[in-house]
Amino acid sequence: MAATAQVRPLNVDATIAELKKLYGDRLSTAHAVREQHGKDISFHEAHLPDAVVFAESAEEVQQIVQLCARHKTPIIAFGTGTSLEGHISAPNGGISLDVSRMNKVLAVNEADLDVVVQPGVTRKQLNEYIRATGLFFPIDPGADASLGGMAATRASGTNAVRYGTMRENVLSLKVVLPDGRLITTGRRSRKSAAGYDLTRLYVGSEGTLGIIVEVTLKLYGIPAAISSAMCSFPTIEDAVNTVIMTIQSGVPVARIELADDMQMKAIGMHSKLDLPIASTLWLEFHGSEASVAEQAGMVQARSGVIRMAVL
Ligand SMILES: Cc1cc2nc3c(=O)[nH]c(=O)nc-3n(C[C@H](O)[C@H](O)[C@H](O)COP(=O)(O)OP(=O)(O)OC[C@H]3O[C@@H](n4cnc5c(N)ncnc54)[C@H](O)[C@@H]3O)c2cc1C
Repeated sequence: MAATAQVRPLNVDATIAELKKLYGDRLSTAHAVREQHGKDISFHEAHLPDAVVFAESAEEVQQIVQLCARHKTPIIAFGTGTSLEGHISAPNGGISLDVSRMNKVLAVNEADLDVVVQPGVTRKQLNEYIRATGLFFPIDPGADASLGGMAATRASGTNAVRYGTMRENVLSLKVVLPDGRLITTGRRSRKSAAGYDLTRLYVGSEGTLGIIVEVTLKLYGIPAAISSAMCSFPTIEDAVNTVIMTIQSGVPVARIELADDMQMKAIGMHSKLDLPIASTLWLEFHGSEASVAEQAGMVQARSGVIRMAVL
Protein backbone atom coordinates (compact mmCIF):
# COMPACT_ATOMS: atom_id res chain seq x y z
CA MET A 1 0.00 0.00 0.00
CA ALA A 2 1.43 3.42 -0.94
CA ALA A 3 2.03 5.69 2.03
CA THR A 4 -0.17 8.80 2.07
CA ALA A 5 1.57 12.13 2.62
CA GLN A 6 0.97 13.55 6.06
CA VAL A 7 0.12 17.21 6.43
CA ARG A 8 1.45 19.09 9.46
CA PRO A 9 -1.30 21.12 11.15
CA LEU A 10 -0.77 24.88 10.64
CA ASN A 11 -0.11 25.97 14.21
CA VAL A 12 1.39 22.79 15.57
CA ASP A 13 4.81 24.33 16.23
CA ALA A 14 3.24 27.06 18.37
CA THR A 15 1.19 24.42 20.22
CA ILE A 16 4.30 22.32 20.89
CA ALA A 17 6.27 25.38 22.08
CA GLU A 18 3.53 26.32 24.57
CA LEU A 19 3.10 22.74 25.78
CA LYS A 20 6.89 22.42 26.23
CA LYS A 21 6.90 25.50 28.50
CA LEU A 22 4.10 24.05 30.62
CA TYR A 23 5.03 20.36 30.69
CA GLY A 24 8.82 20.25 30.11
CA ASP A 25 9.97 16.61 29.85
CA ARG A 26 6.37 15.42 29.80
CA LEU A 27 6.16 16.69 26.21
CA SER A 28 8.08 14.54 23.73
CA THR A 29 8.76 14.93 20.02
CA ALA A 30 11.13 11.93 19.91
CA HIS A 31 10.42 9.67 16.92
CA ALA A 32 10.30 6.49 19.05
CA VAL A 33 7.72 7.99 21.42
CA ARG A 34 5.63 9.35 18.53
CA GLU A 35 5.82 5.98 16.78
CA GLN A 36 4.67 4.16 19.91
CA HIS A 37 1.69 6.53 20.06
CA GLY A 38 0.74 6.48 16.34
CA LYS A 39 1.25 2.86 15.30
CA ASP A 40 -0.93 0.01 16.48
CA ILE A 41 -0.64 -3.70 15.70
CA SER A 42 -3.27 -3.59 12.93
CA PHE A 43 -2.60 -3.48 9.17
CA HIS A 44 -3.68 0.18 9.09
CA GLU A 45 -1.05 2.61 7.91
CA ALA A 46 0.55 4.47 10.82
CA HIS A 47 0.52 8.26 10.93
CA LEU A 48 2.52 9.68 13.79
CA PRO A 49 1.39 12.59 15.98
CA ASP A 50 3.72 15.62 15.97
CA ALA A 51 4.22 15.34 19.74
CA VAL A 52 3.09 13.36 22.76
CA VAL A 53 2.11 14.96 26.06
CA PHE A 54 1.66 12.98 29.29
CA ALA A 55 -1.16 14.38 31.48
CA GLU A 56 -1.35 13.64 35.20
CA SER A 57 -4.69 15.19 36.19
CA ALA A 58 -8.09 16.19 34.83
CA GLU A 59 -7.05 19.85 35.18
CA GLU A 60 -4.01 19.22 32.94
CA VAL A 61 -6.23 17.50 30.35
CA GLN A 62 -8.48 20.59 30.41
CA GLN A 63 -5.49 22.90 29.96
CA ILE A 64 -4.05 20.84 27.06
CA VAL A 65 -7.43 20.61 25.32
CA GLN A 66 -8.01 24.37 25.68
CA LEU A 67 -4.54 25.13 24.32
CA CYS A 68 -4.98 22.80 21.33
CA ALA A 69 -8.47 24.20 20.67
CA ARG A 70 -7.05 27.74 20.60
CA HIS A 71 -4.46 26.69 17.98
CA LYS A 72 -6.89 24.37 16.13
CA THR A 73 -4.42 21.51 16.66
CA PRO A 74 -5.88 17.97 16.50
CA ILE A 75 -5.72 15.87 19.70
CA ILE A 76 -5.84 12.08 19.97
CA ALA A 77 -6.39 10.56 23.40
CA PHE A 78 -4.12 7.60 24.20
CA GLY A 79 -4.68 4.94 26.87
CA THR A 80 -2.43 1.93 26.25
CA GLY A 81 -2.51 1.86 22.43
CA THR A 82 -3.87 -1.71 22.15
CA SER A 83 -6.77 -0.85 19.81
CA LEU A 84 -6.83 -2.64 16.49
CA GLU A 85 -8.59 -0.35 14.03
CA GLY A 86 -6.17 2.53 13.46
CA HIS A 87 -7.75 4.45 16.36
CA ILE A 88 -4.50 6.09 17.50
CA SER A 89 -3.17 6.93 14.04
CA ALA A 90 -2.85 10.70 13.47
CA PRO A 91 -3.62 11.28 9.74
CA ASN A 92 -3.79 15.05 10.36
CA GLY A 93 -0.87 15.11 12.80
CA GLY A 94 -1.35 16.94 16.08
CA ILE A 95 -0.90 15.98 19.73
CA SER A 96 -1.28 12.54 21.29
CA LEU A 97 -2.62 13.11 24.81
CA ASP A 98 -1.42 10.15 26.88
CA VAL A 99 -3.49 9.57 30.06
CA SER A 100 -1.66 6.40 31.21
CA ARG A 101 -0.12 8.27 34.18
CA MET A 102 -3.63 9.02 35.46
CA ASN A 103 -3.75 5.57 36.99
CA LYS A 104 -5.24 5.88 40.48
CA VAL A 105 -8.19 3.93 41.84
CA LEU A 106 -10.14 6.78 43.47
CA ALA A 107 -12.86 4.93 45.44
CA VAL A 108 -13.97 1.33 45.95
CA ASN A 109 -17.60 1.18 47.13
CA GLU A 110 -17.78 -2.47 48.17
CA ALA A 111 -21.34 -2.39 49.48
CA ASP A 112 -22.62 -0.69 46.34
CA LEU A 113 -20.52 -2.91 44.02
CA ASP A 114 -18.88 -0.05 42.17
CA VAL A 115 -15.50 1.62 41.74
CA VAL A 116 -14.27 5.04 40.59
CA VAL A 117 -11.00 5.09 38.62
CA GLN A 118 -8.83 7.45 36.63
CA PRO A 119 -8.79 6.59 32.89
CA GLY A 120 -5.24 5.17 32.77
CA VAL A 121 -5.92 2.33 35.24
CA THR A 122 -5.80 -0.94 33.28
CA ARG A 123 -8.30 -3.74 33.85
CA LYS A 124 -5.61 -6.01 35.33
CA GLN A 125 -4.37 -3.24 37.66
CA LEU A 126 -7.95 -2.74 38.86
CA ASN A 127 -8.54 -6.44 39.50
CA GLU A 128 -5.24 -6.72 41.37
CA TYR A 129 -6.15 -3.65 43.48
CA ILE A 130 -9.59 -4.96 44.51
CA ARG A 131 -8.76 -8.68 44.83
CA ALA A 132 -8.90 -8.69 48.64
CA THR A 133 -12.46 -7.34 48.56
CA GLY A 134 -13.77 -10.50 46.86
CA LEU A 135 -14.98 -8.38 43.95
CA PHE A 136 -13.81 -8.19 40.34
CA PHE A 137 -14.36 -6.29 37.10
CA PRO A 138 -15.20 -8.88 34.43
CA ILE A 139 -14.87 -7.16 31.06
CA ASP A 140 -11.89 -8.77 29.34
CA PRO A 141 -11.12 -7.77 25.75
CA GLY A 142 -7.91 -9.83 25.70
CA ALA A 143 -5.50 -6.90 25.99
CA ASP A 144 -4.62 -5.30 29.34
CA ALA A 145 -6.19 -2.07 28.10
CA SER A 146 -6.86 1.13 30.04
CA LEU A 147 -10.38 1.49 31.41
CA GLY A 148 -10.69 4.92 29.72
CA GLY A 149 -9.72 3.34 26.38
CA MET A 150 -12.10 0.42 26.98
CA ALA A 151 -14.93 2.86 27.69
CA ALA A 152 -13.98 4.90 24.61
CA THR A 153 -14.05 1.80 22.36
CA ARG A 154 -17.06 0.16 24.13
CA ALA A 155 -14.90 -2.93 24.62
CA SER A 156 -16.41 -6.35 25.08
CA GLY A 157 -14.81 -9.79 25.16
CA THR A 158 -15.63 -13.47 25.48
CA ASN A 159 -17.48 -13.13 28.81
CA ALA A 160 -19.91 -10.51 27.43
CA VAL A 161 -22.40 -13.43 27.38
CA ARG A 162 -22.91 -13.08 31.13
CA TYR A 163 -21.58 -9.67 32.13
CA GLY A 164 -22.29 -7.55 29.03
CA THR A 165 -19.87 -5.04 27.50
CA MET A 166 -18.57 -1.65 28.65
CA ARG A 167 -21.98 -0.26 27.62
CA GLU A 168 -23.67 -2.20 30.44
CA ASN A 169 -20.89 -1.66 33.00
CA VAL A 170 -20.06 2.05 32.94
CA LEU A 171 -22.23 3.90 35.46
CA SER A 172 -20.82 7.38 34.96
CA LEU A 173 -17.99 9.31 33.33
CA LYS A 174 -16.18 12.61 33.78
CA VAL A 175 -15.33 14.00 30.37
CA VAL A 176 -13.32 17.00 29.15
CA LEU A 177 -15.24 18.51 26.23
CA PRO A 178 -13.48 19.86 23.09
CA ASP A 179 -13.59 23.40 24.57
CA GLY A 180 -11.98 22.27 27.84
CA ARG A 181 -15.12 22.21 30.04
CA LEU A 182 -15.47 19.27 32.44
CA ILE A 183 -18.80 17.42 32.64
CA THR A 184 -20.13 14.51 34.71
CA THR A 185 -22.49 12.28 32.75
CA GLY A 186 -24.33 10.50 35.58
CA ARG A 187 -24.28 9.21 39.15
CA ARG A 188 -23.40 5.95 40.85
CA SER A 189 -27.03 5.14 41.43
CA ARG A 190 -28.21 2.18 39.27
CA LYS A 191 -31.86 3.21 39.28
CA SER A 192 -31.81 6.51 37.47
CA ALA A 193 -33.87 7.56 34.48
CA ALA A 194 -33.42 11.33 34.76
CA GLY A 195 -32.19 13.40 31.82
CA TYR A 196 -30.27 12.49 28.69
CA ASP A 197 -28.18 9.32 28.83
CA LEU A 198 -24.88 11.05 28.14
CA THR A 199 -22.89 8.13 29.56
CA ARG A 200 -24.05 5.92 26.68
CA LEU A 201 -23.20 8.71 24.21
CA TYR A 202 -19.57 8.82 25.36
CA VAL A 203 -19.12 5.03 25.74
CA GLY A 204 -17.93 4.04 22.26
CA SER A 205 -17.27 7.59 21.02
CA GLU A 206 -13.59 6.72 20.46
CA GLY A 207 -12.21 10.01 21.71
CA THR A 208 -14.14 12.06 19.14
CA LEU A 209 -16.55 13.80 21.55
CA GLY A 210 -14.28 14.41 24.54
CA ILE A 211 -11.56 12.95 26.72
CA ILE A 212 -12.62 10.66 29.57
CA VAL A 213 -10.84 11.62 32.81
CA GLU A 214 -12.80 9.48 35.31
CA VAL A 215 -14.81 6.25 35.02
CA THR A 216 -17.31 4.72 37.48
CA LEU A 217 -17.77 1.00 36.89
CA LYS A 218 -19.91 -1.85 38.20
CA LEU A 219 -18.18 -4.64 40.13
CA TYR A 220 -19.21 -8.27 40.72
CA GLY A 221 -18.47 -10.92 43.34
CA ILE A 222 -15.62 -13.28 42.41
CA PRO A 223 -17.35 -16.63 41.73
CA ALA A 224 -16.65 -19.44 44.22
CA ALA A 225 -15.89 -21.81 41.36
CA ILE A 226 -14.87 -21.37 37.71
CA SER A 227 -14.67 -24.24 35.25
CA SER A 228 -14.17 -24.33 31.51
CA ALA A 229 -14.91 -26.80 28.77
CA MET A 230 -13.75 -27.41 25.22
CA CYS A 231 -16.46 -29.02 23.05
CA SER A 232 -16.03 -30.42 19.53
CA PHE A 233 -18.96 -30.71 17.11
CA PRO A 234 -19.56 -32.57 13.81
CA THR A 235 -20.51 -29.31 12.04
CA ILE A 236 -20.37 -25.58 12.68
CA GLU A 237 -24.20 -25.51 12.63
CA ASP A 238 -24.21 -27.92 15.60
CA ALA A 239 -21.86 -25.61 17.51
CA VAL A 240 -23.98 -22.53 16.74
CA ASN A 241 -27.23 -24.34 17.63
CA THR A 242 -25.70 -25.35 20.96
CA VAL A 243 -24.99 -21.70 21.74
CA ILE A 244 -28.56 -20.76 20.82
CA MET A 245 -30.10 -23.56 22.91
CA THR A 246 -27.82 -22.86 25.87
CA ILE A 247 -28.75 -19.19 25.96
CA GLN A 248 -32.45 -19.79 25.26
CA SER A 249 -32.68 -22.28 28.12
CA GLY A 250 -31.16 -19.78 30.56
CA VAL A 251 -27.88 -21.56 31.38
CA PRO A 252 -25.86 -18.63 32.83
CA VAL A 253 -22.65 -19.33 30.86
CA ALA A 254 -19.93 -16.73 31.54
CA ARG A 255 -17.84 -17.03 28.35
CA ILE A 256 -18.30 -18.57 24.91
CA GLU A 257 -15.81 -18.57 22.02
CA LEU A 258 -16.29 -20.33 18.66
CA ALA A 259 -13.56 -21.61 16.32
CA ASP A 260 -14.10 -23.53 13.07
CA ASP A 261 -11.90 -26.44 11.96
CA MET A 262 -9.49 -24.19 10.03
CA GLN A 263 -8.99 -22.00 13.08
CA MET A 264 -8.44 -25.09 15.26
CA LYS A 265 -5.77 -26.30 12.85
CA ALA A 266 -4.07 -22.89 12.95
CA ILE A 267 -4.25 -22.69 16.76
CA GLY A 268 -2.81 -26.22 17.08
CA MET A 269 0.06 -25.44 14.68
CA HIS A 270 0.81 -22.09 16.34
CA SER A 271 0.71 -23.42 19.92
CA LYS A 272 2.15 -26.86 19.07
CA LEU A 273 -0.91 -28.58 20.57
CA ASP A 274 -2.67 -31.72 19.42
CA LEU A 275 -6.18 -30.23 19.20
CA PRO A 276 -9.17 -31.91 17.57
CA ILE A 277 -9.68 -30.44 14.06
CA ALA A 278 -13.42 -29.78 14.34
CA SER A 279 -15.82 -26.92 15.01
CA THR A 280 -15.19 -26.07 18.64
CA LEU A 281 -16.75 -24.09 21.46
CA TRP A 282 -14.86 -23.00 24.53
CA LEU A 283 -17.14 -22.30 27.47
CA GLU A 284 -16.51 -20.96 30.96
CA PHE A 285 -18.92 -21.47 33.85
CA HIS A 286 -19.01 -19.28 36.98
CA GLY A 287 -20.87 -20.07 40.22
CA SER A 288 -20.74 -22.48 43.17
CA GLU A 289 -19.03 -25.92 42.76
CA ALA A 290 -22.45 -27.54 42.29
CA SER A 291 -23.72 -24.91 39.87
CA VAL A 292 -20.72 -25.00 37.50
CA ALA A 293 -21.02 -28.81 37.30
CA GLU A 294 -24.73 -28.49 36.64
CA GLN A 295 -24.19 -25.86 33.92
CA ALA A 296 -21.62 -28.07 32.12
CA GLY A 297 -24.04 -31.01 32.31
CA MET A 298 -26.92 -28.95 30.93
CA VAL A 299 -24.85 -27.78 27.93
CA GLN A 300 -23.74 -31.34 27.21
CA ALA A 301 -27.30 -32.68 27.46
CA ARG A 302 -28.70 -30.05 25.07
CA SER A 303 -26.02 -30.24 22.38
CA GLY A 304 -24.80 -32.44 19.59
CA VAL A 305 -21.35 -32.37 21.17
CA ILE A 306 -19.08 -35.21 20.08
CA ARG A 307 -16.39 -34.58 22.66
CA MET A 308 -16.43 -32.40 25.77
CA ALA A 309 -13.41 -31.88 27.96
CA VAL A 310 -14.17 -30.08 31.23
CA LEU A 311 -10.93 -28.36 32.27
C1 LIG B 1 -5.43 -9.33 21.46
C2 LIG B 1 -6.60 -8.38 21.48
C3 LIG B 1 -7.89 -8.89 21.53
C4 LIG B 1 -8.98 -8.02 21.55
N1 LIG B 1 -10.24 -8.55 21.62
C5 LIG B 1 -11.30 -7.72 21.73
C6 LIG B 1 -12.62 -8.25 21.91
O1 LIG B 1 -12.81 -9.46 21.96
N2 LIG B 1 -13.65 -7.36 22.01
C7 LIG B 1 -13.45 -6.01 21.98
O2 LIG B 1 -14.40 -5.24 22.11
N3 LIG B 1 -12.21 -5.49 21.79
C8 LIG B 1 -11.14 -6.31 21.67
N4 LIG B 1 -9.90 -5.77 21.52
C9 LIG B 1 -9.75 -4.31 21.42
C10 LIG B 1 -9.72 -3.66 22.81
O3 LIG B 1 -11.05 -3.48 23.24
C11 LIG B 1 -9.04 -2.32 22.70
O4 LIG B 1 -7.70 -2.58 22.33
C12 LIG B 1 -9.04 -1.54 24.00
O5 LIG B 1 -10.33 -1.34 24.50
C13 LIG B 1 -8.41 -0.17 23.77
O6 LIG B 1 -7.98 0.36 25.00
P1 LIG B 1 -6.64 1.21 25.08
O7 LIG B 1 -6.50 1.72 26.46
O8 LIG B 1 -5.48 0.44 24.55
O9 LIG B 1 -7.03 2.40 24.10
P2 LIG B 1 -6.15 3.06 22.96
O10 LIG B 1 -5.75 2.04 21.94
O11 LIG B 1 -5.07 3.85 23.58
O12 LIG B 1 -7.23 4.04 22.31
C14 LIG B 1 -8.33 3.50 21.64
C15 LIG B 1 -9.29 4.62 21.23
O13 LIG B 1 -9.88 5.18 22.39
C16 LIG B 1 -9.54 6.56 22.52
N5 LIG B 1 -9.24 6.79 23.93
C17 LIG B 1 -8.31 6.18 24.71
N6 LIG B 1 -8.36 6.68 25.95
C18 LIG B 1 -9.33 7.62 25.98
C19 LIG B 1 -9.85 8.49 26.96
N7 LIG B 1 -9.37 8.51 28.21
N8 LIG B 1 -10.85 9.32 26.61
C20 LIG B 1 -11.36 9.33 25.34
N9 LIG B 1 -10.90 8.53 24.37
C21 LIG B 1 -9.91 7.70 24.67
C22 LIG B 1 -8.34 6.77 21.62
O14 LIG B 1 -8.29 8.10 21.14
C23 LIG B 1 -8.62 5.78 20.51
O15 LIG B 1 -9.54 6.32 19.59
C24 LIG B 1 -8.79 -6.61 21.50
C25 LIG B 1 -7.48 -6.09 21.46
C26 LIG B 1 -6.40 -6.96 21.45
C27 LIG B 1 -5.01 -6.38 21.40
